[in-house]
Amino acid sequence: MADIPLFLGEEAVASLVQYCAAHDLDHFLLVADGNTYPILGQKVEAALKDRGWDVRLAVFSEVNVIPNEEFIFQVLLQADDVKRTYLAVGSGALTDITRIVSHRTRCPFISVPTAPSVDGFTSPSAALVMRRIKTTVMAQPPVAVFADLPTLAAAPQAMIASGYGDILGKAIALADWQLARLLWNEPYSPEIASRVRASLDACIDATDEIGQGSPDGVRKLMFSLIDSGFCMLDYGNSRPAAGYEHYMSHFLEMKLLREDRPAVLHGAKVGMCSLLAAELYAQLRRIDRPTASARLEAAVQPDRAAEMQRIRQVFGSIAEDLFIEQAPFLDMTAADFDQLKQRILDHWEEIQVVASEVPEPEKLADLLSRAGGGTRPSDLGLSDEEVQQALIDAHFLRNRFTISKLGRILGLESLSTV
Ligand SMILES: [Zn+2]
Repeated sequence: MADIPLFLGEEAVASLVQYCAAHDLDHFLLVADGNTYPILGQKVEAALKDRGWDVRLAVFSEVNVIPNEEFIFQVLLQADDVKRTYLAVGSGALTDITRIVSHRTRCPFISVPTAPSVDGFTSPSAALVMRRIKTTVMAQPPVAVFADLPTLAAAPQAMIASGYGDILGKAIALADWQLARLLWNEPYSPEIASRVRASLDACIDATDEIGQGSPDGVRKLMFSLIDSGFCMLDYGNSRPAAGYEHYMSHFLEMKLLREDRPAVLHGAKVGMCSLLAAELYAQLRRIDRPTASARLEAAVQPDRAAEMQRIRQVFGSIAEDLFIEQAPFLDMTAADFDQLKQRILDHWEEIQVVASEVPEPEKLADLLSRAGGGTRPSDLGLSDEEVQQALIDAHFLRNRFTISKLGRILGLESLSTV
């Protein structure tokens, strides 16, 4: 279990002060924004100053914070030659800004989340936007997390639903991970997978409480989000908690950035994309072994030049990076491809067991909407066409094996190139 103390309860600020006193921390740089400073940042600042401690502030006047050059620089300007503990009072973007600046100025940071919106609070890597392109940079996890339950429960329902969507995506992530273990020799940890499943099940059981934003529901959701983060830390990468639903979400996020459109909450995209990935698993369940065998027989290896052309056409300036990322797939020989097809057939029964564990898309849609999340692209301000494009092309973003890689070989509907 990751060695990061977590406080999740009523009096998070008092616990934070106790923690700082016990660890001789008395110089701080508090990072917050126009929303989170009045909600919680001010209270944290006052509690630390009451002890006579030194608190510098980096409070953005903006309410829509993007983890990009502009915001990172604002925090950097507040850094001085004193060794400080950074306090990230906010949700995902603000935590990532604090994560990178604290790390690069060789200071620790403490996460003080204000909404149960993502599972990335304890991540070692920062999801940043540089020159309007999303990129992931290694930084550091927080030294501790202090989550104030009344603040989390008072968060806007859209942010709570986003956290729920991020958790619902684990239904796909876990199945994709199993496919990768069976078909692509990826390492797998049954122990970590069962922890992620426990988080997923706990939230599904608490769907209505979460949808109502009750303190008990929000506590369960936040605990699941934090534990999912711990699973990624313990495993060493995001594999246990991110599958094709996340790659589709990244694809859409990059598109929104490129087109200078307003951001959509991470978990809102993940939840909606999970429904489409679940639809692929539903198709997989309907294929019996003889049909699978016939489809595999007919399957043609994707043409390397055509694949590279498609990557160039869809991804433009990051195409060269994706050629490297996709090398394990692009460089497959005809013999490798035949071997993979054989492997799919050999493991057909196990693949069916994996597929049977993914809920029906209608079931996931019902859960998501009960938690207050959008289930259609238009609910998120996206078009059906661009979500369809994400479904077809997002697999180029990562070199991991997912339902999309399998679905392309088996000729699942809705995965063919338009
Ligand atoms: Zn996520």
